[in-house]
Amino acid sequence: MSPTLRWTISACLAAAALTGCGREADKADAAELALTGGKIYTVDSGRSWAEAVAIRDGRIVFVGTNEDAKAHIGKDTKVVNLEGRMVVPGFQDAHVHPISAGVEANACDLNAATNVDEYIAAIKKYAEANPDEPWITGGGWSMAAFGPGALARRELIDAVVPDRPVILWSRDGHTVWANTKALEAAGITNKTPDPPDGRIDRNPKTGAAVGSLQEGAGSLVASKMPPTSDAKREEGLRYAVKLLNGFGITAVQDASVNEDDLKAYRQLDDAGGLSLHVIGSIWWERDQGVEQIADMKRLRSEFTKGHIDAGTVKIMQDGVMENYTAAMLEPYILPGKKNVRGIPMVEPEKLKEAVTRLDAEGFQVHFHAIGDAAVRQSLDAVAAARAANGDQGNRHHISHIQLIDTADIPRFKELGVVANYQPLWAYADDYITELTIPFLGPERSSHMYAINSLEKSGAIVAFGSDWSVSSPNPFEEMETAITRLGALGETTEPFLPEEAITLAQALDAFTINAAYVNRLDKDTGSLEVGKRADLAVLDRNLFDIKPAEISDTKVLVTLFEGKPVHGDLGAL
Ligand SMILES: [Zn+2]
Repeated sequence: MSPTLRWTISACLAAAALTGCGREADKADAAELALTGGKIYTVDSGRSWAEAVAIRDGRIVFVGTNEDAKAHIGKDTKVVNLEGRMVVPGFQDAHVHPISAGVEANACDLNAATNVDEYIAAIKKYAEANPDEPWITGGGWSMAAFGPGALARRELIDAVVPDRPVILWSRDGHTVWANTKALEAAGITNKTPDPPDGRIDRNPKTGAAVGSLQEGAGSLVASKMPPTSDAKREEGLRYAVKLLNGFGITAVQDASVNEDDLKAYRQLDDAGGLSLHVIGSIWWERDQGVEQIADMKRLRSEFTKGHIDAGTVKIMQDGVMENYTAAMLEPYILPGKKNVRGIPMVEPEKLKEAVTRLDAEGFQVHFHAIGDAAVRQSLDAVAAARAANGDQGNRHHISHIQLIDTADIPRFKELGVVANYQPLWAYADDYITELTIPFLGPERSSHMYAINSLEKSGAIVAFGSDWSVSSPNPFEEMETAITRLGALGETTEPFLPEEAITLAQALDAFTINAAYVNRLDKDTGSLEVGKRADLAVLDRNLFDIKPAEISDTKVLVTLFEGKPVHGDLGAL
């Protein structure tokens, strides 16, 4: 018997003779906070609804009816009437880049600009406002803005910033747009060879770099820029935490961390400001082999505590379709070019060796795989790990899965691999209609973002935003998963509508399934007694509205471990 319970019973026995026991017993285990009168979607195993939830010491002590909640309400309990509002478990973003996105948002941010003229105007404005920055960095431009086959060119930036280096990442993070000063700083000349994992786009006649650098070629200039200062990293992280909490997000898997990032998380957590559970995916250096695992073990043991778990490793297995670096089973359809199949970043046999070792060491592997060959290579690597180690329960996952060969669909369930989709990509935007489908042909294009096929196969499907690549707003992402349309009205024809999923499935993917892949499902992901009180109060019931309205949903209050980290309970 717990000391508290023993005290309660003896106090009751003493008090009963005088006053009756009820109120006294309640006080001893009364909740600090009770939310009543809500439509609480618990995401428990029965996907049941409740009216009330009670919270103490950051955890849920009761979920059920308003009537039964009374037993947990004492005189010091703060009681909030939800007046019928919907409550969901805190969302978990299973693939996001909070620090780099936050740094980018605080630097030269092109995400809000929509065409090349606006990009140039924004770059000029930023340069004028920051005359002392030796390099201008940032990103958020879209390849589609340059039109099919056109490239981001250095002279466009030179016209407004001729005197210092400028490098800007594309919205998807796979291409760097650099000016002449940046190319000079990196020593890139007509004779510089392409790196093995990337491509310097060149003038076909002169061989001169045009200013766009694909994949690993971007590192040629990025490695020369001054490192992100600790202050900028911290500022970026604080920006990200606030923004994500505002969307009801209470846990993330950072899809690429290094030691500096982990230090930034650690510092913010020690200062009490990290209102997110963070899974850090340590970046796999693809020019190294298994010898790097020793240092990953050091990082894991040094940084895994509090709200941080550094037990995941990110392996980027290919690039993206739009620049033909996604690894494909069959060649791209390119006029005048045969046998372009993209770039497998890690040689498949080496990948098997790496994943088998990581799995044996208890690491979760988080793959980036866009093309169908990269997806297959990732699955083959997990199969090799399974054969060597058995099922270690590490919940490996593959992000993106833009294209999958139908033969590989059942392998996710068989191998216990989670399908980690970025659902906001699953509509026919310019990237898909102009920069992808023409190079894939109709047959392969019909297997893009096959989310429902993976659901039907019995695989666990989790969602993430890949912010800053796309918006971290889970309501926009869920709407597109359900409608296969742009969530902000960008398109009117659903893209492969047979791959649409239901609202309940989309909610699972952002709550309990994302918690599963974050290895947090014992503690989070649903609203059940004993779990952490991470939840979001919404301004509307998602089940009562048209799918097209889901993206308009606002989070009124977010609780992280029982404490408001966004919004005001008093204002409900
Ligand atoms: Zn990513």
